[in-house]
Amino acid sequence: MILGIESTAHTFGVAVADKGKVLSNIRDMYKTSSGGIIPTESAAHHKKLAPEIYQKALEQANISESKITAIAFSNAPGLAPCLLAGLEFARKKAKELKVPIVPVNHCIAHLEIGQSIGAKDPVLLYASGANTQIIAYAAGKYRVFGETLDLGVGNFIDKVARHFGFGFPGGPEIEKHAKNGKYIELPYSIKGMDVSFSGMQTKLQQIYDKGEKVENLAYSLQETAFSMLVEAAERALAHTGKKELVLGGGVACNARLQEMCQIMCKERLQKTKYFCPERSLLVDNAAMIAYTGEIMLKAGIKSNPEDVDIKPRERTDQVNVTWR
Ligand code: AMP
Ligand code: MG
Repeated sequence: MILGIESTAHTFGVAVADKGKVLSNIRDMYKTSSGGIIPTESAAHHKKLAPEIYQKALEQANISESKITAIAFSNAPGLAPCLLAGLEFARKKAKELKVPIVPVNHCIAHLEIGQSIGAKDPVLLYASGANTQIIAYAAGKYRVFGETLDLGVGNFIDKVARHFGFGFPGGPEIEKHAKNGKYIELPYSIKGMDVSFSGMQTKLQQIYDKGEKVENLAYSLQETAFSMLVEAAERALAHTGKKELVLGGGVACNARLQEMCQIMCKERLQKTKYFCPERSLLVDNAAMIAYTGEIMLKAGIKSNPEDVDIKPRERTDQVNVTWR
């Protein structure tokens, strides 16, 4: 059985996986009532809650710690203080239990967890707070086929939401207010396969300051930003010839983004299967880390606790994928 630890940003999670089955998945998210994430505060949250979340994960899986044969943790990419909190806890437990550590790239884990619901070789639309990437496997690596040139779609939504007076996370509030809006044209910015959101952010804030209704702005934000993501994802499908789309990241919890992706998959001439993991596997979670760690371990990837390190800026395509 393999234990997974997630700590890249606002969420600390611990999970247990065994033979491709997730046996437990416990998480707690650092939240603020106003303003964004303060990395050192988020790290303090992780350190404080780690022992309790660890115990709960063992209890939910109904196992004792002696059953754990390896510890996977997300070592990249993310906020350094948060990653360090995860590393320290993973090291401590690995030493106590005398088991090896498997370092897992968080973005790749979002793709690999798609296997648990049947995706074999998908294009991943990874739409989260800090990350917005379209990722697929090609020639030995997970390659980035398209990505944001400025902020992650979730950070963009959170910034706009904060301007409207909502706390963090702003995505659910925007989704709620988008229900009864009407469309206002916004900058649609897609360059080749890449997207950018800062122009739309400025525009939304300007129109809001002139007195436009939040409902209309929220609706138009969703329609415009999500169309950009779906367009880039479809082009990646066309380019790679792959026939599966997997969603990942907290923004993928949005029902309208899910609907748009579903429609795109259905309307493609090249039949494309749509896979959306359940919410607990879309947001930052340790289950996908344990699940991916198990696959990597099977291929012989493991380290001594002292030899692993965090890689806050590691890119998806820097990881040598020897397990496929
Ligand atoms: P992650 O970084 O993957 O954990 O995702 C967090 C991001 O997802 C934050 O920016 C949230 O605002 C965003 N988010 C969560 N739920 C929704 C939603 N229903 N619609 C849009 N964005 C959301
Ligand atoms: Mg994530």
